[in-house]
Amino acid sequence: MTHHATRTLQELGYRLTPQRTLVWDQLREDGGHLTAEELCRRVQSQFPHINISTIYRTLELLVNLGLVKETHLGSGGRHFEVEEEVPHHHLVCEKCGRVEHVHGEDLNGADTALLKTRGFELHDALLFGSCSACATTA
Ligand SMILES: [Zn+2]
Ligand SMILES: [Zn+2]
Repeated sequence: MTHHATRTLQELGYRLTPQRTLVWDQLREDGGHLTAEELCRRVQSQFPHINISTIYRTLELLVNLGLVKETHLGSGGRHFEVEEEVPHHHLVCEKCGRVEHVHGEDLNGADTALLKTRGFELHDALLFGSCSACATTA
């Protein structure tokens, strides 16, 4: 759980419709990476009339507030997740689609090396491979 993820929008001082609050709640509870379509289906179980454009508008607002981050996972779709305090990178399993987070220390200084040698500031690395579960069953 991240600092944002433990807080409700009401606590943060935003007056939103229940539909919009539910988008945030779904993202926090899931704790993973969801597309707008997945979020829409979940919210629709409680508010059947909500549509995808409301979901996108809500996500844009949450992104602007710095609560939600749009993440590219290489699949072409737009995924959204709760913004974390510490920047993180993504490991994507090509076999089962599992997504894991890694932080700067797991990169063993690769991020600072890139900055030093190329002046490249690494924000979000996307690494493809096999997760531990898939690697052992292969
Ligand atoms: Zn896997
Ligand atoms: Zn992520």
